[in-house]
Amino acid sequence: WGAPGLKARLIEQRRRHFCAAQSVSYANVDPLVMVRGYGARLVDEAGRVFVDTRNNVCHVGHAHPRVAAAVAEQVATLNTNTRYLHMNVCELARRLLATFPKPLSDGVVFFVNSGSEANDLALRLARAKAGHRPDGKVLVVEHAYHGHTHAAIGLSPYKYKHASFGGGAKPPYVEACAAPDVYRGPHRGPTAAAAYAADVEAHCARGAVDAFFIESGMSVAGVILPPQGYLRLCYAAVRAAGGVCVADEVQTGLGRFGKWWWGFEQQGVVPDIVTMGKPMGNGMPLAAVVCTREIGDAFAQGPEYFNTFGGNPVCAAAGLAVLDVIEREKLRENATQVGDYLMQRLRCLSSTPQGELIGSVRGCGLFIGVEFVKDGVTLEPASLETSYLCSKLKDAHLILTSIDGPHNNVLVIKPPLCFSKRDCDTLIDALSAELLALRAVNLSTVTHTPT
Ligand code: PMP
Repeated sequence: WGAPGLKARLIEQRRRHFCAAQSVSYANVDPLVMVRGYGARLVDEAGRVFVDTRNNVCHVGHAHPRVAAAVAEQVATLNTNTRYLHMNVCELARRLLATFPKPLSDGVVFFVNSGSEANDLALRLARAKAGHRPDGKVLVVEHAYHGHTHAAIGLSPYKYKHASFGGGAKPPYVEACAAPDVYRGPHRGPTAAAAYAADVEAHCARGAVDAFFIESGMSVAGVILPPQGYLRLCYAAVRAAGGVCVADEVQTGLGRFGKWWWGFEQQGVVPDIVTMGKPMGNGMPLAAVVCTREIGDAFAQGPEYFNTFGGNPVCAAAGLAVLDVIEREKLRENATQVGDYLMQRLRCLSSTPQGELIGSVRGCGLFIGVEFVKDGVTLEPASLETSYLCSKLKDAHLILTSIDGPHNNVLVIKPPLCFSKRDCDTLIDALSAELLALRAVNLSTVTHTPT
């Protein structure tokens, strides 16, 4: 792996054989060649060890030995399409459903291969439940991202508003409601939940609604957690309009919120359909849709559902091992303790002179956003500074972070759930040093590394 010129060769091959739309992190200056991982660490081809604060796919830690062994054993025994009865997938369904509240725990599960596929299927389920009425609308939330298939792009303002689509690519049946952002949005304080929900209620009042999609914590929108009470009000309005409520747990599910298996639980609601993906197979393609039995029955009136790879024996073995590790290693408890510790340290940093750019620290468990602003009153986004910090963290302190939010000024921290307090200290020390150094930098003269 350490062969001289390897990175340059891969960059060239990537350029030659791939489409430029297929993004790579740190692409402009120094993309990374990762060759190994363990826990919350990634190792590149030069042997540099990075603290990984962004990888929400390797949920229980990179190359976790228990997951690796389960996959290796199953792949050496049998992997087929999904037309046969198999204990792995049945056991995974049983154990997964047991993590949900009623009535979802008595519902049905579809295993698929990605979060996008899960949301695509959720849309079909909602349409089936509504009886395929031609005028049924689908409500989403501004800045949301629900995946890359054609249908999922149509549910994602983050994508369908792209300038290249001319007037945008929003399907006629989709309507976007205000994002419930209590930091930057128009509504803040104790009345925010009702004020944001009023927008959803207004959309519901204007015609039939088949479905309301929302991430339980919005990730690419910059870690937006809806104010308490918001989902309860929205769900009531959507159901009164004849629709179903879909919780996208692709980013927030499977214990990332610590105390809660699923992000929606934090709001005391139960959706009709839940979609999940990224963390389920610790990197193996495993995703799922869970819905009520009633919705499953409506869908069963339509054509057969067959998914060649979804929930195959090998991916299901990975899924079972992930559940085992979360429980054995008490990773949900860890997410709560370490997440709280990290948010507390970030808030302390924000009250130091070098932390003045930190406008907001928010999150739940190990799903944390740090929003950088130039001015605490106007909230002018410190986008350039965030990008610069991100590249400096990567270069100098070997920490991988990601930037999100409509203004590209939110550092999103969503590491493997085995992240430790020591890892937090490493991150805080590095961030503090870089924030201090940034005070002496004139950004207009710097070629920073957008990530
Ligand atoms: N939903 C959300 C909230 C996501 O963040 C993503 C991926 N970032 C998806 C759906 C799509 O998942 P996938 O990339 O596995 O198709």
